Amino acid sequence: MPESERYRKVDLHSHSTRSDGQLTPTELVDLAVEQGVSLFALTDHDSLDGIVEAQVRAAEHNLSFINGVELSTQWNGIPLHMVALNFDLNNPALLEVVTQNQTIRLDRARRIADLLIKQGLPDLFDEAIALAGDSQLGRPHFASLLVNKGLVKDANKAFDRYLGNKRLGQLRDVWPELEEVLTALSGQGMELILAHPKRYPLTVTKLKRLLSDFKKWGGTGIEVVSGNERPDSVRLLERLSKEFSLKASVGSDYHGPFGPWMQVGKFTQIQESHLDLIWQNWP
Ligand code: AMP
Ligand code: MN
Ligand code: MN
Ligand code: MN
Repeated sequence: MPESERYRKVDLHSHSTRSDGQLTPTELVDLAVEQGVSLFALTDHDSLDGIVEAQVRAAEHNLSFINGVELSTQWNGIPLHMVALNFDLNNPALLEVVTQNQTIRLDRARRIADLLIKQGLPDLFDEAIALAGDSQLGRPHFASLLVNKGLVKDANKAFDRYLGNKRLGQLRDVWPELEEVLTALSGQGMELILAHPKRYPLTVTKLKRLLSDFKKWGGTGIEVVSGNERPDSVRLLERLSKEFSLKASVGSDYHGPFGPWMQVGKFTQIQESHLDLIWQNWP
């Protein structure tokens, strides 16, 4: 990779208030610029709603901006996230996946609330809807309510005790199959990237099986770095990027100033100089 690309500050994974992030798209873009980012993507969970606002602000700053979204899917019963980048905002196949996932989110929220009631907690559904407002409703909204009501100490505890994948039982299985989503979106010029591959409960052997499926079904990239990844994980993902011919993507997965999130534009650096970078030909 050319030196100029290697040291360019790129961030292709971030969240705004249109999903579970804490900053508006405008505030987020302002912060990215302040942090010296020169190529940026907003990738809210199952939502394209923040993109136009972010695009407009990025143009005001002369910041190169890429349309993005983080889609919820599942593979062998394991919830998986994939990041789609560089698509047309009117892409019908993508709109269909996003709309379907938004319906699932609402239905899942009702079922999450029921699960919490069974464990002796109050019905949080209406409050979760109200708290989410025009954001895509998710588990972080339930976590905030549990914290605000003093029912748990912090969001991490809320996930540990009530909301983590282990606690959700069948509610893990609500998302569309990875194969279905990749097949629907592949071959249309957008990049389809496996998000934070080290955050799933997978051995390296299983992860390789996943990457083989991912590539076969039309996936084009892999996040070699996500936020505060351990350097040895990054080295492994660099190798897997080459082994499976999946282009390397990078991102902070920034959600806002409160909580454990990495700063926009910050993540463990890529070392491998022979990687095919997903942003190689972008402005
Ligand atoms: P959902 O999209 O509704 O499945 O919620 C998943 C989101 O919850 C992730 O994107 C994270 O932002 C957040 N999350 C997951 N685990 C934790 C945790 N242990 N503590 C705080 N937030 C978490
Ligand atoms: Mn999130
Ligand atoms: Mn994710
Ligand atoms: Mn994310």
